[in-house]
Order: sequence, then C-alpha cells, then structure tokens
Amino acid sequence: MSQRKIAVLTDLDPSSSPGANLVALEYAKCAAKEFRVEFWSGRNKISNSPLRTQDAKLGFETYNYGRRFHAFPKKSLKKKTLREIFSLLPLLWIVHKTLVFRPNIVWVHQIGNVFPLSALLIFRILKIPAVFTVHDFGILVPRKLYPEDLSVDNDDLMSLAYSLPVSKEMLILRQNTLGRLYLIRLCIIRILVKSTIIVSISEMQKRILEANNFLVTETIENGVNPCGCKPDSTSRLQAILFAGRLNGKGLNHAIELVEKNKELMLHLAGNHELLTVALEKLPKERVFYYGMVPQSELFKLLHKVTFTSVMSDCFDVYPSLLLESMVHGSVPICYPTVGNAALAKGVHDSLVVEFGTTPDSSTLSKLIEDSKLSKRAIDFGKKLKSFEEVYAKYSNLFDGV
Ligand SMILES: [Zn+2]
Repeated sequence: MSQRKIAVLTDLDPSSSPGANLVALEYAKCAAKEFRVEFWSGRNKISNSPLRTQDAKLGFETYNYGRRFHAFPKKSLKKKTLREIFSLLPLLWIVHKTLVFRPNIVWVHQIGNVFPLSALLIFRILKIPAVFTVHDFGILVPRKLYPEDLSVDNDDLMSLAYSLPVSKEMLILRQNTLGRLYLIRLCIIRILVKSTIIVSISEMQKRILEANNFLVTETIENGVNPCGCKPDSTSRLQAILFAGRLNGKGLNHAIELVEKNKELMLHLAGNHELLTVALEKLPKERVFYYGMVPQSELFKLLHKVTFTSVMSDCFDVYPSLLLESMVHGSVPICYPTVGNAALAKGVHDSLVVEFGTTPDSSTLSKLIEDSKLSKRAIDFGKKLKSFEEVYAKYSNLFDGV
C-alpha cells in the first residue's frame, strides 16, 4: 500500500511569522513520521526561504503574496472581509497544488490572511477531507464581538465563557451596516466550513465557537517541546519579558507593572515599535531590547528573566508563550481571558490577575521574593505534553477520516 499523503496549510512562513505557523510546522514534523507531508504556506516576496533545509522529510511549497488581507487599511474593511472569504490567486495556487500532490487529507491551520476560507470549499469539491485546527477563533467569529462587551469581572473562566451567548453586542450588530456585514460574513463562513472537521485548541475557544453555532469535533490543546537549552547561568534577573507584536498582546500592562515596582526591569523581544512605546513611559536604563529573535534565542531569554508577560488585551486562545515560559522556568503572569490561564494558576494563584489590571505592589513583591516560584513553573512545565504526544490525538483523528 502506498504511503498516505497529508498537506499542511498555513498562512505564513513560520521563520518570518512564528506563533500558529510555527505550531503548524512542529505538527507537520510529527506527521512526517507516518505520512508523506507537504507544508504549504504563504511567503512574503522579500523574505528568503530557510524552511526548505530544515527537515528533509518535509516538502515545502510557498505561495508568494503581495499583501496580507489584514494589512489593508481600515477603510477597506469590506475588501478585507471579502478577501478573507474569497481571493482568486491564492485559491488557484491551492487548486494547482492539490491536483499535483493529491493529498489524502488537508490539515488546515491559520488561514484568512493569505489564503481565503473558500479553500475549504475547494477541498470539499475535490472530495478531500479537511481537518481545521483553529488557532484564532477570529477567523470564524468576528473578533469585534469580543471582548469589549464582556464583563470580565471574575476569574472563573467557565462562567465567563458561558456568558458569551447572551452577549449584547449581537443585538447592537444587527442595527448597523458594519454589524450586518459581520453577520452576513458569519453565515457565509458557516456554509464554507460545513463538513470540515474543526479542532479547537482550548476549552475557552470551543465555547466561543459553539456559542456561534460552529460544530467543534474535538479540543486538542497545543503541545510544547521540552527544554533543551544549556543556559549559561541559573540565576535570573528581576525582569519581566514581553515577547510578541505590539497589537493585542498588552505591552502597556507589562510597562505598568515595571512602573509599579522599582526593582523590575522590562525586557523586550520583537519589532522595534515595542521599544519606542516602552521608552515613552520608562527610562532607558530600565528597558532591555533584543530585537526580533529566533525561537532558540527566545528560549534562552526565558532562562534570564523571572517573569513573562502574557497579559493579552484580547481573548488569547492558547498562547505558546505561556507554555514556553513555564518549560524554560520563567513565571507567566496572565489574564483569565487567556485560554491556558489555568496552567499559570496551577503554579501560583496570584499569577492570573483581573483583566486589564496588573498585580498590586504587595502581591508583586511577594512574587519577586518567592525563590521557589521558578522551580514550580519548571515542574509544571515538565507535566505539559510535547508536540509528539499531542500529535497522537491528531493521528487518531486522521485514521477516522
Ligand atoms: Zn530552556
């Protein structure tokens, strides 16, 4: 019997845009042990493609895009919404790749930014089963619905998620043009994802999707690779690391925390904008900036600092940074609106703080003085599942399609 084939589809090249795309690549490597795998991603024309050399067992196919849909200016919202759903050139590319490779299964990850959602319809027409791991619920349900209207006044994640169906914003939406556009989009997307196997990566996300009538087949929480670093030193700086993009990840909260406690420094990894924003509030001697760092360097940084900021301004579905910080011994501080907040709570109750706030000074001082905290984070990190272990669940799912 010939080997089964799987195509892994994600919007962006993981080397230039990590996050969900990198998670997709980790899973693709696991899948390569039992399938013939092709990794399909978008690629910015200006970046080179270091992907090809990473793993000989994986085939890499990249679609060169001009502009991501989300980079469209605000005034072209209708155009952006349309492109998320339908965009001819990337669709033709997918059809071509599918007809050449003829995969038995397509494993879809992050799309809607380079590849449109109508790709799912293409797979249905070609009778190829698709498994869609939704990393960001925003591609199905308009993010605009969350979280402004939700009273995030308790740290009980479940009751928070249960309150979603009664969100008043749904009513407000029906009354204005933009809102109606969102609702039409929702209806079209429901048709497109019909018969696609949807995998949610957190319970919180599952509830948001189900509250909007999407059928979730299974929740499979993402894995994390164990620490393989050889850190230069075991001592840690009294610092909080913020790593990520400016928008949505809550840099302002990390800054606020550093303003509150004179012993704490702010370490930044990412785009230069982060530094500019931080220096507006903090003196330069309290800020360290590393620039854009590859994953292996990020892990080394996690060994340097006491805390990691995961105080996202949005419903962050299942941030890898929280898992990685624990594995590499940095203590995550997060909000209950982060899909893996329960893990941080397992390390210490005070690590999950009320949405939009930062820990008060006395709590923060206690956390800084608690020398066992990092060890506790590492011990919890050791209990987390690796990508390889999590992949076993997907493997079962693939056997069933
Ligand atoms: Zn490590």
